Amino acid sequence: MQAQSGERLEVLLSAKEVATRVEQLGRRITMDYQGRPLILIGILKGSFVFLADLCRAIDLPLAVDFLALSSYGAATRSSGIVRILKDLDHAVEGLHVLVVEDIVDTGLTLNYIFGHLRARGALSVKMCSLLDKPSRRQVAVPLHYKGFEIPDEFVVGYGLDVDERYRNLPDVCRLIRS
Ligand code: 5GP
Repeated sequence: MQAQSGERLEVLLSAKEVATRVEQLGRRITMDYQGRPLILIGILKGSFVFLADLCRAIDLPLAVDFLALSSYGAATRSSGIVRILKDLDHAVEGLHVLVVEDIVDTGLTLNYIFGHLRARGALSVKMCSLLDKPSRRQVAVPLHYKGFEIPDEFVVGYGLDVDERYRNLPDVCRLIRS
C-alpha cells in the first residue's frame, strides 16, 4: 500500500508471522476455556481484524461483543483519558470474558476495562492483546495472552490506524514520518 506523502511504512511483523501467532493463541485459548462459557469482547476499532482472525482460530462455542472507547484527541500518544463511546450489547454475568485488544501501551485503557467488566459480574476477565509495548507502561495490567512484544514505536496496519488510515494493511508496520 502506498504511504501518504510525508510518511513511510516499514514492515515490523508480516501478515504471515501474525497469522502463525494468532493460530497459536487460538489453540491455547481453546485448551484453556474448554467447557467454560466464553465471550470475546473486542475493543473497537483497532482490534477488529485481530478479533476476526482470533475467533476463527478458537475451536469452542463463544459469543462476541464490542466496546468502543476513546482517549481524547487524535494524537499518536495515548492521553490516558478513557470514555465509553459504545457499551456492550449483552450482559457478561455468568460468562468468562476474554478482552481482545490490538495493542497495550500505557496500560490505562485495559486497566479501565478490567475494572468496568469485573464490576458487571463476569465469572472471570482475562486480557489478550496482539501487541505489547512494555517500555511505556504506566499501570500494570495482567496480560494473559499476548502476540508480540514490540519496541516503543508507532505502528499501523492489521486494524491499527493513524487518523483512520492504514487499518487495512495486512502487515503490522512502523509509521515513520519524514
Ligand atoms: P494504552 O491505554 O495502553 O496507552 O493505549 C492503548 C491504545 O492506544 C490502543 O488500543 C491504540 O488505540 C493506541 N495505541 C497505542 N500505541 C499505538 C501504536 O503504536 N499504534 C496505534 N495505531 N495505536 C496505538
